Amino acid sequence: MESLLHDSKKTLVTINGIMKDHNSSSENNNVVINLDHGDPKMFYSYWKKVDNECSVTIKASDLISYFVNPKEADFFYQMPGFNDAIRRVHRVIGNAVAEDRYIIGGTGSSQLFITALRALALSIKETNSNGGKRIPVVCAEPYYSYYGEAIEQERSKLFEWQGDANTFQEKSGPYVEVVTSPNNPDGTIRTPVVNREEGVVIYDLAYYWPHYTPITSPADYDVMLFTMSKTSGHAGSRVGVTTYYRWAIIRDQDTAKKMKKQILLTSIRSSHEGQLRATKILNFIADKYEHDPYYMVEKPSKVPKLFEVEGLFEYGHRVLGQRWEKLRAVVVQHTPRIRLPDFSPSFCNFMGKLTSPTPAFAWVEFESGEDAEEVMRKLKFQGRNGSRFGINVSRRYIRANMMGDDSSFNLFLERLSSLRIVD
Ligand code: PMP
Repeated sequence: MESLLHDSKKTLVTINGIMKDHNSSSENNNVVINLDHGDPKMFYSYWKKVDNECSVTIKASDLISYFVNPKEADFFYQMPGFNDAIRRVHRVIGNAVAEDRYIIGGTGSSQLFITALRALALSIKETNSNGGKRIPVVCAEPYYSYYGEAIEQERSKLFEWQGDANTFQEKSGPYVEVVTSPNNPDGTIRTPVVNREEGVVIYDLAYYWPHYTPITSPADYDVMLFTMSKTSGHAGSRVGVTTYYRWAIIRDQDTAKKMKKQILLTSIRSSHEGQLRATKILNFIADKYEHDPYYMVEKPSKVPKLFEVEGLFEYGHRVLGQRWEKLRAVVVQHTPRIRLPDFSPSFCNFMGKLTSPTPAFAWVEFESGEDAEEVMRKLKFQGRNGSRFGINVSRRYIRANMMGDDSSFNLFLERLSSLRIVD
């Protein structure tokens, strides 16, 4: 059987067999690179340029009260400016319909995902007794590994994880299907696969932004989830009292109220510091596209400092585009037994031109049948093995983060390019 050989100046490793020579003298050769998590560090250099324009100052006496929006008895913990910024950014980018919807801020995806599930399962159970059984939750393989893990951890009496939606089509009864589009891990655009009347769908649209995929129409679904982590890259603000915001947009008032109650009871609301920061960042993103002379028909004589940087989505699409190009070149030149998914360009309404998808993760297949995690481990990479994305997903797949920092990505390319096929 063919095997893959890793051969660099300092290391020689047969991936299918034993390590032959590994007397690395270079510091870099010994560094283990973590491509497992979807850490969006590539956004650092963008935000560094506008540190001052986008900083938020919070005085010791600020934001003491629980109440920031006393007029809204249901959502008194949510700043009106935060809601407006979310609606504005969706309107300007055109990726989702957010007007006349409830906007519910939360602390990270686990909170809102599980909160949405509880609310939906409760609503379903109120209209359909389901024989007292838990509501099945499914998602087509390969699916984001978090869903099953979080649901199983939850041990809920209301819902249970039943894995691959493709194997659920023949079953009957109510269910919840999660549709992740573009999909994590493989970047594909997805629609529901079960399509039965008794089902409800949660759309996880974390990556439905122009830096990852062409925006072909505004998403207009009952339950949609987005996250700042993948929009602007502010994933780490959940540390301590400052959170970043993930929001759910709900059309049905009853479900929204149930979600709101869940949030009230489980987290005692989301932090105002995080809402302030998200508001600042989202308004900066929208300002750029609404008021930057570059995008305006009548150009003002002086360009404000704020607009000297390129738009966030042009930056993100450019950086990811270059990375995908380099990765494909390495795969074609050096490692013909490794396959990457192909994506066709589509017209992006936001960019006003044809753009190619540049997903946040590379879904790498080792066609020679190797265990991808094993290969990556020998190259001193941590990636997420295919088996974590569904029980029928082969171990010859691995998910590698494309949103990390430059040095990790370059090392990834360097080490990958040292793989050779041997008989
Ligand atoms: N949904 C999808 C599809 C994701 O890939 C991620 C991050 N990996 C999330 C949600 C969660 O993002 P966060 O927890 O940072 O909100």
